[in-house]
Amino acid sequence: MAFDLSDTRAFEDEIVRIRRRIHAYPELSYHEFETARLVAQKLRSMRITVKAGVGGTGVVGLLKGARPGNVVALRADMDALPVTENVNVPFKSKRTGVMHACGHDTHVAMLLGAAMVLSRNRDELHGQVKFLFQPAEETGGRGGAKPMIEAGAMNNPKPDYVFGLHISGTEPSKVFALRPGPLMAAPDTFRIRIIGKGGHGSAPHEGVDPVFVAAQVVVALQGVTSRMIDQREPFVVSVCSIHSGTKDNIIPDEARLEGTIRTFNEKTRAQAKRSVKAVAESVSRAFKARAEVEFKPDEYPVTVNDPNVTKRAVSILRRIPGTRTVECKPIMGAEDFSRFLQKAPGTFYFLGTRNPRKGCLNTNHSSEFKVDEDVLKYGALSLANLAYEFGKPN
Ligand SMILES: [Zn+2]
Ligand SMILES: [Zn+2]
Repeated sequence: MAFDLSDTRAFEDEIVRIRRRIHAYPELSYHEFETARLVAQKLRSMRITVKAGVGGTGVVGLLKGARPGNVVALRADMDALPVTENVNVPFKSKRTGVMHACGHDTHVAMLLGAAMVLSRNRDELHGQVKFLFQPAEETGGRGGAKPMIEAGAMNNPKPDYVFGLHISGTEPSKVFALRPGPLMAAPDTFRIRIIGKGGHGSAPHEGVDPVFVAAQVVVALQGVTSRMIDQREPFVVSVCSIHSGTKDNIIPDEARLEGTIRTFNEKTRAQAKRSVKAVAESVSRAFKARAEVEFKPDEYPVTVNDPNVTKRAVSILRRIPGTRTVECKPIMGAEDFSRFLQKAPGTFYFLGTRNPRKGCLNTNHSSEFKVDEDVLKYGALSLANLAYEFGKPN
């Protein structure tokens, strides 16, 4: 028995209510205090064991099924973004400058919806379901998955499988999109300081012009993409900020560049970082400048979906009536769900919410991001069914 829409019917309104409540009171990364409190209270009301304050504001729930089986973890992130909402809905953000523009409010609501279905059917349930409510997905290297794992979220019991769902403003409403293998990129932020020797603009030969050197470095870095990395490997390097100088006739002492690298496997990633450093340093040296290259530590790994688990997940998602499941292309964005996938095989998947008829047209992170709330019950149902099916003993 897997669940269908008759199992979510009793909870549909509640899922939407929870989503709207969280949407109206969004909280930034590591400040998800009210959201975490709401999550803990809802889980307890379902007689699910709760541990709060896991890795910051994280909440872990554990539901024991009546039958023996696997431990399946389901994850939702809880943080909002520093964006001022530009959508006129009755539950519009009441906090200027803060908005659930990535849809993490829907993730919390859908996971609580899955918990409602699963806890009501605990007598039928195999194994155990672990609910991971994560703080701070949006913070880059300081994302909440790592402190949660360090606080033991992936132990006692150790999940055999882990699943995560993300709402997508680009996929059409009620479409599940996923792929086996690498799904989302590893992001690496770099800073390059080019140290020259300042002087008069009329006599560049007496100094070392860091502006000129910076320009050479920007151009040369594109050679890493086109000439140093295997063209069959997706790879992006972008210099997105350059700062130097104060006046038209003064050669400054230094220039600062910042940019991002995106890769899809750890080997290419290491090679790319090495090459960016080597190119910046040696191009600078050729022109008598010196480059200091730094990478931000602890950035998210590549999000890799386990091929076998994903294949089985696709067949489970395909059975959800009223939805479609498609294979999507890899995405250059990043996710710290990747850290959970390093601890247990699993799948990260998207649920489309783009619906022109309802004005749901903008992408995640837009101030006009609007979710088609009809999809929420399908999302909850998908999580409940993945937990139920993968909980069965192998
Ligand atoms: Zn986001
Ligand atoms: Zn997100």
